[in-house]
Amino acid sequence: MATVNNPALAAFCAAIGSELVLGQVLLRRLAAGYDLRHVSDRMAEEAHLQGVAHHTLRALAGHTAVGEFRPIKAAPNLRTGWVCRVSSGAELESALNQLYPGALADWFAVLQAERGEVPCVPVTSYREFTARQTGMYRNTTSLTDPQAAQVIRACCDARFCLKRRWWTVEGLAPDSADAKSLIPCLEPCAVMLEFARKAARIEQEEGKPSLTLAPSEVASLLAALDIALTYPTAGQREADLSAADNPRRLQLLRGKLQASAPMPSKGAGE
Ligand code: SF4
Repeated sequence: MATVNNPALAAFCAAIGSELVLGQVLLRRLAAGYDLRHVSDRMAEEAHLQGVAHHTLRALAGHTAVGEFRPIKAAPNLRTGWVCRVSSGAELESALNQLYPGALADWFAVLQAERGEVPCVPVTSYREFTARQTGMYRNTTSLTDPQAAQVIRACCDARFCLKRRWWTVEGLAPDSADAKSLIPCLEPCAVMLEFARKAARIEQEEGKPSLTLAPSEVASLLAALDIALTYPTAGQREADLSAADNPRRLQLLRGKLQASAPMPSKGAGE
């Protein structure tokens, strides 16, 4: 393979070793180049996979297996059933940039901080990020720290995104190293911003019913939400945050319910 001049790419190639998993992509070193495929296709015969060129991976990563748009490319719903062979550093960089845009540069930024080559990981906190917002996104500053933490937990849950969140808000720790994947998230993304805007609007809604629930009833609601999250409605669009059954909204509601109610005591409701 030709010499790699890009320091981020050179460091990444060195980190691959014989193989490495990035998000949901398994990269395996070959005699000349790399084999890229979905990690769940690790054992699949190459003849059973669809060969794709590195420059077509953006289209592959754009939609789920059932044709739904993937607004977050690090969402854990990358299609399976394909294999991409690259023979040069430039092709590997192209493949990575299409599967996980920006991941290589962000991964290298974290590596440089860990090596002490730069003072710290260059993150933008929720407060710094939302303080810059104008217009309809200005309301994202109105969430209190605990509210923002709930919104972040829901939005960035591993169910929806495999990036390791390095940025945070007061009272919420960053994701741990083993929580998700090697792909760092260094600042809130567009989906996060839109979700925070929607969550702030929900907080500001008037006419909230006052409802007292027994712990067993809370447990039933949590079970119902888990079912809804595990078996999403057909045709549900991840980025449609105006939909009451949007998975992130359900996850946020789940977090609020869990935080506000004690678990039922053993035997309750029997
Ligand atoms: S802000 Fe959250 S959902 Fe968005 S890319 Fe980062 S970790 Fe993923």
